[in-house]
Amino acid sequence: MRDTSSDDRIDHEVVIVGAGVCGIYALHQMVEHGVDATVLEAGEDLGGTWFWNRYPGARFDSESVTYGYSFSRELLAEWDWKERFSGQPENLRYLNHVADKFDLRRHMQFGVTVERAVWSEAESVWHLHLDDGRNLSCRFLLLAIGLLSAPTRPRYEGMDRFAGESFHTYDWPEGVDLTGKRVGVVGTGATAVQLIPVIAQQVGELTVFQRRPNWCAPLNNGPISPEEMAEVKTRYDEIFAICATTPGSFIHGPDRRPFFDVPREERVAMWERLYREPGFGIWLANFRDTFMDEAANAELSEFIADKIRERVDDPALAEKLIPKDHGFGVQRVPMETGYYETYNRDNVRLVDLQETPIRRITRTGIETTAESIELDVIVYATGFDAVTGAYDRIDIRGVDGQALKDKWRNGPKTLFGMLTQGFPNLLMPTGPQSASASTNFPRAIELCVEWCTELLTHVRDRGATHVEAAGEAEDAWDQHVRDLYGMMLMRKAQGWFTGYNSNVAGHEQGTIRYLVYNGGTPKYRRLITECAADGYPGISVR
Ligand code: NAP
Repeated sequence: MRDTSSDDRIDHEVVIVGAGVCGIYALHQMVEHGVDATVLEAGEDLGGTWFWNRYPGARFDSESVTYGYSFSRELLAEWDWKERFSGQPENLRYLNHVADKFDLRRHMQFGVTVERAVWSEAESVWHLHLDDGRNLSCRFLLLAIGLLSAPTRPRYEGMDRFAGESFHTYDWPEGVDLTGKRVGVVGTGATAVQLIPVIAQQVGELTVFQRRPNWCAPLNNGPISPEEMAEVKTRYDEIFAICATTPGSFIHGPDRRPFFDVPREERVAMWERLYREPGFGIWLANFRDTFMDEAANAELSEFIADKIRERVDDPALAEKLIPKDHGFGVQRVPMETGYYETYNRDNVRLVDLQETPIRRITRTGIETTAESIELDVIVYATGFDAVTGAYDRIDIRGVDGQALKDKWRNGPKTLFGMLTQGFPNLLMPTGPQSASASTNFPRAIELCVEWCTELLTHVRDRGATHVEAAGEAEDAWDQHVRDLYGMMLMRKAQGWFTGYNSNVAGHEQGTIRYLVYNGGTPKYRRLITECAADGYPGISVR
């Protein structure tokens, strides 16, 4: 690659925002290609998701051995995963190990937030303004800012009045001690489902405020023995090859037999087996039809509902925990360890907000339409302004000063999720409508970061300074993304996959925001690889 970093009119050839799984790999790629790059990270250290999400119980829902980076054989050979689904502390250790091994820290700056990024068309340069008052310029701006990194709290009256401790799971305070306390958890998404069974064992009383239940399934976690790990190391090529063929880049691929061609007893036997197996199999190794066919989905949902009924002692409570507004697996399934049994404990209580909504937060707790519940601690497990939220929080100005937030007001529009017209030299390996938003994250990240790096190389090798998606190519991608939603039962569910978030103005129930690519990674890989091989049609380079 031609070295243009000697251009002394700019501070860096590439600025990468975010030092999580994506930013770390993007930096590694830049270093490998001899490109001058710096990483700006808002957190006080690297790790992204695994730096921030320190709530008890935080762990992978994809198999650890499929989650690590695949780019270095040496790294694969020297790292031993200890658990099938590794926990946050270990995951953070892993990312630190990677950064140290490849000597990446010296290119990283921590505790800095990019407030504004303004494109200069005349100079083909991005000008950044940081919260510490500095200005930085760069030719390319690579945003590795995550999909679920803009946490959202509810908008209840009185939240500031609460005299106890309250925090979002994303901002779990260092050293908080819940022992013996009266704790309220608001929310029952994937985060809450990991958190609740762990803290229930420690707190005095736990009250769970549930607005809508989710379909959850057992994680079936366990240790990985040294012998097993040694055996995995001989099979990494095979493991990653399997992930490359499945829609979500997970180890689990769908059963493509027509659902109703398989006898019911066989279907049920398969579900019984999958329910006992580790990980996403019950969701992703299931019949493909369950994602698209209402009747197939209803039958599977009833199977899972019966499992919940078996596991929860109080039948009325079990019914409250069973979703009635969407079917199993139409959205990402929260994976749990003893979640349903937790409601059999004497110190745990569910408040159904559909029956008795929260009225306000008071100085001493939470007031619903039926009662006042006294609490020492309130935990908001209330999710994220997903996928586009992190972009909205930076004032990004493209050609003619257009704000990205305005362009995406009614939902994002991109080419492959990685470029967006009117914002030249902006690269988004985990952008909205990219494969990253719906898959086993690191697998898609490697693919997308490598594609962005190749594109950057292509631009620089031509002595060009400007790369931008063409409007027609972007329209076609947007239509493709929308068409895929049209085939999925997911489009009928309220959740972050359809851009729903009651805590963000404009993202409430109503119109779908087409945030994720549902075509599967193999197809996505083929389309982006063909585009590169064909000399980047639909992308202008000058
Ligand atoms: P989420 O799935 O969006 O869940 C948020 C929860 O908070 C929902 O139960 C929601 O209820 C509730 N809620 C939101 N606002 C509320 C309000 N104002 N009043 C009452 N309840 C409210 O968020 P999440 O649990 O953080 O998970 C997000 C995603 O993160 C997951 O889908 C997954 O992709 C990822 N994640 C992964 C793992 C892992 O295993 N590796 C773990 C955690 C999270 P409604 O449903 O009614 O809106």
